[in-house]
Order: sequence, then structure tokens, then C-alpha cells
Amino acid sequence: MPTQTRAPQLASAGKALLLPMAIDCLVLGAGQEVGKSCAVVTINGKRIMFDCGMHMGYLDRRRYPDFSRVAPDGDFDGALDCVVITHFHLDHVGALPYFTEVCGYRGPIYMTYPTKALAPLMLEDYRKVMVERRGEEEQFTTENIADCMKKVIAVDLKQTVQVDSELQIRAYYAGHVIGAAMFYAKVGDSALVYTGDYNMTPDRHLGAAQIDRLQLDLLITESTYATTVRDSKYTREREFLMAVHKCVAGGGKVLIPTFALGRAQELCMLLDDYWERMNLNVPIYFSAVMSLRPCTVLHDTCKVGFKHEGEYYNGCYKLPTCFLTA
Ligand SMILES: [Zn+2]
Repeated sequence: MPTQTRAPQLASAGKALLLPMAIDCLVLGAGQEVGKSCAVVTINGKRIMFDCGMHMGYLDRRRYPDFSRVAPDGDFDGALDCVVITHFHLDHVGALPYFTEVCGYRGPIYMTYPTKALAPLMLEDYRKVMVERRGEEEQFTTENIADCMKKVIAVDLKQTVQVDSELQIRAYYAGHVIGAAMFYAKVGDSALVYTGDYNMTPDRHLGAAQIDRLQLDLLITESTYATTVRDSKYTREREFLMAVHKCVAGGGKVLIPTFALGRAQELCMLLDDYWERMNLNVPIYFSAVMSLRPCTVLHDTCKVGFKHEGEYYNGCYKLPTCFLTA
């Protein structure tokens, strides 16, 4: 879906198209679907790949973005100035080891520190489930994941990174999951923002997305739940807590299947808070190994402090006691 900005006036004037500020956007995934986020934007001659995701619904070649459209001759280093990853979810980072280790991209890759810490866990977990449990053909190895992550340059939020003399990028807090960022990119007098997933409602372990007032020529934004009206957070949480309490009060056990990264931590904090208020001492256990490492990342990052107020965890994170009972 190539799009260009600032061209119509010139085109309608019937003159030769000189597009000093042309922006071209090649959407390789997540254009009209959920999954496989990957948008390649050319801005003032610089070419940036935003996200390099995998589609979880396909096992064939549709699982990955069609990288041949980025560089038909396979020269990805010549075709791209950098790759930017917004967060660790596989629909945003799942194709990255394939792109670097199998397709051979060797250029710079940027993501935040927590994303760099957690993305390899997600990728390895996915690889194990697909290859070792389901017997699928291996797309990338454990070594591929490690080699890929070595190429990643970690960035801080609000840190202006000069990719080269003309292209600069900056990450902004996106909420959604630990480490998630929206990225601003500027080349000369043209600028854009690519959001990835973001959340405007703070929860217990993450704050709301924050961004400066910026002058942009293009905004590419996540819109998966844009038209969905949900029950209020308060109502959903109350119903959940009532159901859990009723079960344990009757001597039952509650099994909660949940995403290991982010959701598990949020539910633990919700339960820990409720347990304290209601003076309950029924033990809470983690069964997922995947949940423990993120807790360590959260805890370590809290201990080293925040470079900017309201960063990755909105400065309000506390380690619930139930995290320690795994
Ligand atoms: Zn996400």
C-alpha cells in the first residue's frame, strides 16, 4: 500500500514530480490484519523498517513479511538504514532472527532495554513450542536468536539517537507491556511517528503512553481495538476478584491461564492488593517459568532507578509478595 504525502498539489499542478519531502510507506504486514507488523517507510531518502513481526495464524510463507519487496536483490543492508522494534510481542519482533540470520540483514536494529532483555525469551519460547512440541520445521535456532540479539542497540526512552548524520530516532513510553515504545523518526525537515501497540489507560504495573507535542508529516498508529467498547476496568477487575474470592472461600482452587509476560504480573498485583485489603492468606503460586524472568527484569530495573520520571513502569512499581512464592 504505497502512500505518499505532499505529492497531490504537485501532481494536480501537472508539473514534473519533484518530491523533496516524499514519504513512501510499504506495508508488509498488519495493514488490514492483526499480526506480522512491519512497515518500511522511506522519508527524505532514508528507509526505516518499523517492527519485524510474525503472523501467528500461519505456518507457511505468510508467517513472515515478504522481505523480497524490501530488496528484490537481497541487499537488505543497502535497502534499509535501520530497523526499529516497538516491543517484545511476537507479532512485532517474531521475524527478526529470520531477517538477520537467514535473510542476512546486518544493519542497525534499535529497541528499548527491557525489549532487548525480554524478546529473546519470547522468541525461544516460541521456537521450543513450535519445534520441540509440535514438530514444526525450524525457522531459526537458539543460536540464531542469540546472534540476532547481539546486533541490537538498546535505547532509553526520550533518548535522541543519531542513526547517521541525517536520520534521528527517539523512543516514547507506550504503556501496553514493559519496554513498549512509540518511535519518532526525523530526517531533515520531515518527521513521523510509528506507534506499535500503546495504551492510554494506566494499570498497576504500567503507566499511560506519553509523547511530546510533535510536528509530524505522517502518523502510523495501531488501531486493533480502536472501535471496541469495553466494560470499565473497575467492573472487569471487580468481577474477577469476586469470582476468585468466592471460589477460595468455598475451599476451591483457582487456575488462571494468562499471558506470562505482562498480564501475569498485572493479575498478581491485583490479587496481592486484594489479598492485603481482605486479609486473606491463601497462597498464590506461579507455574510458568516465563513469568519469573520478567519479574527479575522488573525488579532489577526498579532497583537501578529511572532515568526519566514516568518511564518504563511509571515509577510506581512494587514487587508484590506473591511474586516471591513461586
Ligand atoms: Zn503488543
